[in-house]
Amino acid sequence: MDRRALITLVSCCLAFVSTTTLRDLSRPDTETVDFLQSLQDEVEQEFDREIQFDQDESFPVTDPVDPLTALNANYSDLLFEGDIRLSHEAILSLQGDHRSRRQAVRAPNLLWRDGVPYTLGEGLSATKRKVIREAIAFWNRETCVNFRARGTEDHYLYFVGHDQGCWSTVGRDKKQTQQWISIGDGCQLFGIAAHEIGHALGVMHQQSRPDRDDFVSIMWSRIKRKVEGNFAKARTTNTYDLPYDYGSVMHYGPTSFANNPKTHTISAKDANYLLTMGNREGPSFLDVALVNKLYSCQDRCPDIGCENGGYPDSRNCGVCKCAPVFTGTYCELPWFGPSSCGGSETVTEEWQTFDRKVVKDQHCIFHFEAPEGSKVEFDLEKVDGLCNYGCYEDRVEFRVDRDRLSTGYRFCCPVNPSRRFTADSSSAPVILKSTKNQTSVLFRYRAV
Ligand SMILES: [Zn+2]
Repeated sequence: MDRRALITLVSCCLAFVSTTTLRDLSRPDTETVDFLQSLQDEVEQEFDREIQFDQDESFPVTDPVDPLTALNANYSDLLFEGDIRLSHEAILSLQGDHRSRRQAVRAPNLLWRDGVPYTLGEGLSATKRKVIREAIAFWNRETCVNFRARGTEDHYLYFVGHDQGCWSTVGRDKKQTQQWISIGDGCQLFGIAAHEIGHALGVMHQQSRPDRDDFVSIMWSRIKRKVEGNFAKARTTNTYDLPYDYGSVMHYGPTSFANNPKTHTISAKDANYLLTMGNREGPSFLDVALVNKLYSCQDRCPDIGCENGGYPDSRNCGVCKCAPVFTGTYCELPWFGPSSCGGSETVTEEWQTFDRKVVKDQHCIFHFEAPEGSKVEFDLEKVDGLCNYGCYEDRVEFRVDRDRLSTGYRFCCPVNPSRRFTADSSSAPVILKSTKNQTSVLFRYRAV
């Protein structure tokens, strides 16, 4: 082949790559179509049994990031659960055979056994490249999965940005050698890129966990017709006994697949978690813990006695990885935030008032400590911040769970009337954070 022919061939192929869309790549076979239909039938049965008519609260949501289902609207027939490129084999191994209802096992063939080689496709804008690199660096740093620029590997992740929408396959799909992951227009947010890479590592959506009905209600009547199958449960998903996390970056927002974009299709059983859903800031402590379990990262370190739910950092076995309200080598100390602007608050039986404001880039953690044996009660009167689903820019967060590992009640919209709730224990961290405008909060607290 002479040089000119080679150049023609190369430019022809580059042109091919930059215009190929998901529709060219995905031609669902009969088996996949049947599988989706079976999921649809399954949830339609559930639909008949359990229609939710919960009352909704409406919030003056501003500046919303479109839910993935809206960003991917043109591909809704090709994507499962809004942004998962179907690989029949992969989904089947995660979803299980719906007839036999066999129980969960990890699908080892979906894991990247020798790190993740990747390439950033031609034509990705500077912003997208930056966001993708940050998300790759995050997963590389926080887990034992090694990402590396592709050398000669046959199988690798290929980031594209020219195609519409944000989507990925779940896990390593042996059938695709160049495995595409799309960060299209509207998806150039760190949290979305981290979400899609989470899928590529093998993580399903949080609300498809087998136990999700204990935590959320699906409002079947508000979901667009014929897409209800996207709310099927993934029965074989292994939760590794990690708590359900409404603030997972892998959780849908409240309006996914809605008929009317202002109504909720998912509501939290504990309504104080409603605005926690839809986080697009970045992976939570439990998202990271899940990938570390999936890849058995903790097996690389001896037990060093981490406290407060921490576990050894597989990149540095002498130090524990801590939930974001603890610090110290063994997570033995309360964390007051990156600039130590938080502190400890002594809680007594008398009501006391907490009235604070944080400005952009401030992140403060306050630890409310009541006498042993009692619990901390809060009466939240006022919140002022940028109001959006997930409260991922400005927020106040109350970690009310006993373990303080899962994302707490997040508020960023006006509260009316005031809300009263009680933490599970005598110690409750409250996080005040602002990355966009400012957040102010007014509440009372006491020991009960
Ligand atoms: Zn997703």
